[in-house]
Amino acid sequence: MTIDEDHGKRGHVTVTTLQGPAWSVQGLDIAAGRYPLAVERHVMRMADLLVPGVTTVTPHARYYALHTLIADEAASHELEEDQTRQLLRRAEVALAAVSWAHDHGDVGLPRAHGVDALSSRLRSGGVDVATAAQPGKDGYVRNSWGFWFPYFASEVALGILDAKGMPTPGEACDGAAVRDGLGDLLELAGRAELIVDDLQSYAHLCVCAGGGAADGRWLARLFCGTADADPRSPGGARRETIRLITRVMQTHPISNPTADVGPVVAFGDFITADEIAGSLAVTAAWRGVVLRNYSVGAWRRLWSWLVGQVTGLTPAATVADLFADALPDTTVQAFLDGLPPTQAAPGALAPAELQLRHSDLPLPLRELSVLAVNSHRAHELDGHVLDAFLGDRRGVDLAPEWTARRLADAASGSLRDFARRLTVDLLARAQRVALGKARRRPDGSLWLPTRLHERGELLYKTSDEGRGDVGLRLDQLTTVLAGAGVLTRVDDQWKVTAAGEALLG
Ligand SMILES: [Zn+2]
Repeated sequence: MTIDEDHGKRGHVTVTTLQGPAWSVQGLDIAAGRYPLAVERHVMRMADLLVPGVTTVTPHARYYALHTLIADEAASHELEEDQTRQLLRRAEVALAAVSWAHDHGDVGLPRAHGVDALSSRLRSGGVDVATAAQPGKDGYVRNSWGFWFPYFASEVALGILDAKGMPTPGEACDGAAVRDGLGDLLELAGRAELIVDDLQSYAHLCVCAGGGAADGRWLARLFCGTADADPRSPGGARRETIRLITRVMQTHPISNPTADVGPVVAFGDFITADEIAGSLAVTAAWRGVVLRNYSVGAWRRLWSWLVGQVTGLTPAATVADLFADALPDTTVQAFLDGLPPTQAAPGALAPAELQLRHSDLPLPLRELSVLAVNSHRAHELDGHVLDAFLGDRRGVDLAPEWTARRLADAASGSLRDFARRLTVDLLARAQRVALGKARRRPDGSLWLPTRLHERGELLYKTSDEGRGDVGLRLDQLTTVLAGAGVLTRVDDQWKVTAAGEALLG
């Protein structure tokens, strides 16, 4: 599981995209409790800078094109907001139905949006479009704007839509291209019923088919940009990121981008030995952020484990003791001395974090070990890698320099006492984070976005805490590029297409 919160300022508007029931009160509640230690901000910001135009909730190229098609249709026919919303929802139902009906095998793409909600109707052979397109429990999705909100910030970032309250063509919109590739969807959206057997002849509209169509070629050009783009501009950073990950795919077997691309960039000498990777300005930033994400993931796992120790009303000291008991009875220094090396050779980082993550150590010891080796990187990295690793707010609580300092200060003391003190610190921090996001309910009571609550010295929880990594959007960038014909999946591995090579060469 990955999570993502995308805050970006585009011109005069601030946009936020959240998965699920976006922008509803419920959606905000869920989101607020997702970052209990608030350690994620730096890597999320970096992902926003390095992959503008894609988030963890935008896996399909064809939805960018669909929303652009609706914007173009609304502009050409001067549709009202209500009519536009209806059309968008009906078109998204049609895209879901067509994609479900197309038997494309494993092309590496997730299912089209809304397919799960429509699956029983699709299996029965037909979908009543008006019913399916209704917002609410009988529809394909509850949100009134369907799946537009998850894509909104990305579409605005790419300039294909303007930041307006309804889909409105932006400067990079190409109405002719999206109509050429996806225009038939408007006809399907206008039908009363979609019969699955009739949809076989519409396979060219499937989420998998953009690469061979004009809308996919347009998006591919937009995402990949041109060689003269300034690497410091959003478009230039995106092009360089795409060049980096496609280079990794050309030189390594990559099945799962998040799991497989990160380690190639973070460890070893690929980023200096490979001519293309070494020539890109974003490469150092990627190394820094992938490395930092190990620490972010470790804090999230450790916190989730601590919350997992709370059963009923539990004294905080009991949780601290359980953490301590999961660690060897030794000094902090002896613990540090026993960790795997972080360097194989000068400049060639050893995959210590990866090795530990894949070890069979009990979770608290494993993640504390990841934090320790990762914090050691603060002293061995330099230049742009170090900048991207540490971020602007250097030395803040739970950041690598803080962790390194805490471990150094406690070196001669007991590791178990260190864990007890750390538990107290984490509880206090989570409480501060929750209070900082607290809101007053309409009835005057205080709402705290936390799963862990204190009653005097006792703790209780309302649910378990998530422990997923922050998504660096590599999976979504990969599937968007596949949907636009830049990448393809061959024998369970991602490969660059000839069209992709032409755009990126
Ligand atoms: Zn398909």
